[in-house]
Amino acid sequence: MSAGQAERSGGGTQAGDRWSERVTRVLAPNPSLMTLEGTNTYVIGEPGSDTVAVIDPGPPEEEHVQRVLRAALGRRVELVLLTHTHADHAEGAAAFAARADAPLAAVERDWATAGAPSLAAGAALRAGGVVLEPLPTPGHAADHCCFWLDAERAMFTGDHILGRGTTVVEWPGGDMAAYLDSLEAVRRFEPARLYPGHGPMVGDPATAIREYVDHRMQREAQVLAALEAGDRTPAEMVSRIYADVDPALHRFAELSVRAHLAKLVREGRALEQDGRFTPP
Ligand SMILES: [Zn+2]
Repeated sequence: MSAGQAERSGGGTQAGDRWSERVTRVLAPNPSLMTLEGTNTYVIGEPGSDTVAVIDPGPPEEEHVQRVLRAALGRRVELVLLTHTHADHAEGAAAFAARADAPLAAVERDWATAGAPSLAAGAALRAGGVVLEPLPTPGHAADHCCFWLDAERAMFTGDHILGRGTTVVEWPGGDMAAYLDSLEAVRRFEPARLYPGHGPMVGDPATAIREYVDHRMQREAQVLAALEAGDRTPAEMVSRIYADVDPALHRFAELSVRAHLAKLVREGRALEQDGRFTPP
């Protein structure tokens, strides 16, 4: 069996994992605490199309780039898209797009190349024989964008919704109020499946989104309770709320608590002065 036949038959292959007849996932070699097994680079093409689109080329690792190009099965890369510009998704994107001679599109215009389509809500993109609709989803990052693949009722969710666990929404880059609005924006599409930026495909998006919202609401309630109990700084709140979590992670937890506090301050449910927080 040739490599191409192996890829067409599905399952794991050297060049990528066939997750649907249109979508191949190529796992980048950058596993970590924050990236799970690594970043998912997606190669998308309608069966019979002689082009593909690529979402999140990932790190500038030659072996990974080779696997992404192999997963295209000889089809030309027509468009490269970024869900956001964090390094684990985007560091190799400009070089990959240049090598594939394809435009690179991103919400962050400094990253987009000349001639790339702008990623506006509802402005459908045509590449790889499919229609991809950008859905700007600020929250994890201000420039975050999901992509709707109507042919599969599927959403590419980047770091907005992961394959398992929760994503980080950290002050000051992250915005908790925007993040929750963006979860609702994805839910309204009633997706049948999610292709996340890290981890496995999500087959029950409604449940996953509900769990994400519940998790944030529970955390917000804990922050409000800590405020009522007399905690005045994010560090104090983290010691209380994350008492059973490895202290090595408290630095990240503090930025997450800070993102919740920013939302509460904006809503008039907490007051801030010189980095100290009080009930209104
Ligand atoms: Zn990210």
